[in-house]
Amino acid sequence: MNNSNEIHSVLIYESVEKAKVPTFEPDQDLVQIALQKIQDIFPHSSIYCNKSRPNLKTVAHSYSLVSFLKAVGEKEKDHKDQSVALFYGWYPFLDSELVKEALGCHFRYFADFTYGENIPIGFIPDFCTLELLSQLPDNISDDIRSYVLKHIQDYDIEIFFKNPDLRQFRLDFSTTTHRSSTLAFSVRKHTDDLNYSNLQSFLQSHPEIIRPYPSYFEIELSSQASVAPFYWPEKPANRVPFLDRDKIHKLALDIQQNGMMQDATITLGGLGEPMEHPDFFDILQEFLDLDQVHKIYLETFGIMLDKSAIDRLYKMNGIEKLSIIFRLSTLQKERYQKFYRFDFFDKVQENIQLLENKTSQEYPFRLYIELLRITENDDELKSCLARFEKTDIEVILQKYNSYINLLPERRVANLNPLHRDFCWHLARDFYLTAEGKVPLCKQDPFARKKNSLSFQDHSVREILMKTNPSHSASVRGNHDKIPMPCAECDEWYTFNG
Ligand code: SF4
Repeated sequence: MNNSNEIHSVLIYESVEKAKVPTFEPDQDLVQIALQKIQDIFPHSSIYCNKSRPNLKTVAHSYSLVSFLKAVGEKEKDHKDQSVALFYGWYPFLDSELVKEALGCHFRYFADFTYGENIPIGFIPDFCTLELLSQLPDNISDDIRSYVLKHIQDYDIEIFFKNPDLRQFRLDFSTTTHRSSTLAFSVRKHTDDLNYSNLQSFLQSHPEIIRPYPSYFEIELSSQASVAPFYWPEKPANRVPFLDRDKIHKLALDIQQNGMMQDATITLGGLGEPMEHPDFFDILQEFLDLDQVHKIYLETFGIMLDKSAIDRLYKMNGIEKLSIIFRLSTLQKERYQKFYRFDFFDKVQENIQLLENKTSQEYPFRLYIELLRITENDDELKSCLARFEKTDIEVILQKYNSYINLLPERRVANLNPLHRDFCWHLARDFYLTAEGKVPLCKQDPFARKKNSLSFQDHSVREILMKTNPSHSASVRGNHDKIPMPCAECDEWYTFNG
């Protein structure tokens, strides 16, 4: 229970470098702007930061957020009934009016913890009593909001909500990541007066602001596969079998020079078997080596994932970034032949078994079985989940894509949200076909439409510039101005990166 109407201290947590995980150092100009705003809004409060910064207080043992909060709680134990403001980074767009409103709720309802339910991080801090901080257990994750919500019976929690609800933009103004800092810089090129009340109109005027560089790259290394899934669109004749190394190297270099630290997700997938590329392992290593890449998914039918391939993967540098997704939509031998039109069922089972026999301590990558949810295998859902329940292999239930009516309807359920926002694939994806073409989106998987571009002739940024009008139309709700049948597409709300 909170008895005082003034914020006792401001607590700023910056992530600190841990083994093998370099952290992003926030820009000093943005830090200064944020600090000035904090001092204006909380003129009488002490300011703690877990990193040493001039004129700010610090406390020892503050590598994790929880240890930092507990250390401050301990240091200020004589002020238990007072509240603190929690910042998860530096907020150059700290909104004084919104802070006043949220703080009003915190004190009015004698809350132990108050946070903005739908406010993008960076406009207001969370508010919390020092008593709650001192009671935090040692062994919890740094997600304080989740911890408090899980123990809702023990605390008075105030959930602050403010219209408009812009959560679909997934904005982060905390400057704790390269992407978040880039966002803050881009906004400041247009205005230094962004606040929550003008955020929506700002986004409508500058939709490109959320699209500085893709975060999800799907690369079709091979258009060939030893199987031919019946749920894939028929491929055109004379497809180029493999994406050439020059284009792959060009993409890796582009990501290295223009991508953001630990931001890019790469999927080696497309409509083919990536492991059939003759240089598969070298290509994988090239992407594993990039600091800008934080995750790589290998979508494979698993036919080539035998012992020698697993041993080779195991020895690769940075292999912990890899997740292997087995494309396996049935566990029945006869059905497998129908689904994939070739019989590799026993081989795939054998390869899965090889991986399954090792414990997660032995192999550093994650493993998934991807079960496409279609009417033809709906009866297998329970047995498939049960089959892998006690293993380190997780089952992913994949949504069926008809590529906008190119294939028959096979969905088990229509889970489309009723309201159509903008398309995340346009905003963040980069799809590269085996021919080296970049379609406007993955719904043109063979890049046959006129608006697809050649990666040979353009950089990633140039492609973004050329496709920006479609992204802007999407954000503004003008879906009919996009040269794709977006109104009929059910993939617009899925997002992988
Ligand atoms: S909504 Fe439009 S742009 Fe987005 S994935 Fe579908 S067809 Fe492509």
